[in-house]
Amino acid sequence: MQTSFTPRQLAEPDMAASEAIIRKCVHCGFCTATCPTYVLLGDELDSPRGRIYLMKEMLEKEQQPTAEVVKHIDRCLSCLSCMTTCPSDVTYMHLVDHARAYIEDRYKRPWRERMLRTVLAWVLPHPGRFRLALALARIAKPIIPLADSLPALKPVAAMLKLAPRRAAPAPSTATAPVAARKGRIALLQGCAEPVLRPEIREATVRLLNRCGHEVVFAKGEVCCGSLVHHMGRKDDGLDAARANVDAWTRELEGEGLDAIVITASGCGTTIKDYGFMLRDDAAYAAKAAKVSALARDVSELLTEIELPPVTTPHALTVAYHAACSLQHGQRVTETPKRLLTQAGFTVRTPAEAHLCCGSAGVYNILQPDIAARIGERKTANLERLSADVIATGNIGCAMQIGLRTSTPVAHTVELLDWATGGAAPKSLT
Ligand code: SF4
Ligand code: SF4
Repeated sequence: MQTSFTPRQLAEPDMAASEAIIRKCVHCGFCTATCPTYVLLGDELDSPRGRIYLMKEMLEKEQQPTAEVVKHIDRCLSCLSCMTTCPSDVTYMHLVDHARAYIEDRYKRPWRERMLRTVLAWVLPHPGRFRLALALARIAKPIIPLADSLPALKPVAAMLKLAPRRAAPAPSTATAPVAARKGRIALLQGCAEPVLRPEIREATVRLLNRCGHEVVFAKGEVCCGSLVHHMGRKDDGLDAARANVDAWTRELEGEGLDAIVITASGCGTTIKDYGFMLRDDAAYAAKAAKVSALARDVSELLTEIELPPVTTPHALTVAYHAACSLQHGQRVTETPKRLLTQAGFTVRTPAEAHLCCGSAGVYNILQPDIAARIGERKTANLERLSADVIATGNIGCAMQIGLRTSTPVAHTVELLDWATGGAAPKSLT
């Protein structure tokens, strides 16, 4: 696409990066067919091509963002399905991240939206605050029908629905000593996952220990920053990235690290992008690039270090839900299915596997109607497989799908741990 950014604009690194991305788009429209919001709403402005055009106009002409433009950018799930479809290698992720930060700096949202976004950014990245918020949400569950019936309170209803009925115990921070250490791995502790499903971390530690690897939790580590980053809060996202780069660099320069392993693929996509996010920060660029190069989704790591022998085969059928951040963001598509098959499960793939489930960070709270429609469609496709269990590699997807089905939903790593000698996933017991 032809652009006319001025030399002054191109001197700004984010603007220069966006201009290069926009120029690559040839407007072919292939991406529209795999964009969940276009598939659902049928509006060109809710397609990747339409959004790229809106972002180009806004950035190139340095326009004040309008409510209409913000609406269509907000409706994007950042599922990145358009990136794996695009034949021109358009890095939509970096463009939309830039546009969101641009909007955040220049657009005054209605007060209710501002308040909701401030609360989400203040609570979710902090496990202690999140745990407290869930306790309050459990008490408030009876008001869900009322909140759902009032358009202004729909995001509140969406939040309350996502809160589990029972509190999960705090996750263990114990990691077993390993006699014959084959490697030393830092496991991202995360923010939402240990509060909602601490058993995922426990299964991961058990499994990696069984593989002969030492697992460590880096001191000073914080939320990966993706939640605030995708809300356009660039500085908050970069602060989180720097804190984590420091924490893992200390481990790397101390006893050494063979990998940084992540069990929530949404976080993995962002950590693998730290190198890009901090590319212009002279003090962090090289360290961040190293951290990104060490980052692995747990399924990638298990392929590299080999799954332990299967001790307890379970004749179960697994419907595999590919999280967008894993299949489109990190391009890890077959690995989890291969591992599950190797562990003795019969793996099935649903129709429209490339489409998002509607979770997308806090999208299911900020855009509850669209997220619910996408979530129903995804769950129906998964249920058509009549599987014993649904497996996925991202906590957000597990919550979004789990809310809509009676089929147990487990993390891929829980099933792998179970088949190789670990405990059964809680959702199956
Ligand atoms: S597929 Fe790629 S090149 Fe084609 S319209 Fe979409 S983003 Fe542009
Ligand atoms: S990231 Fe997903 S929702 Fe957003 S434009 Fe691309 S395909 Fe559509």
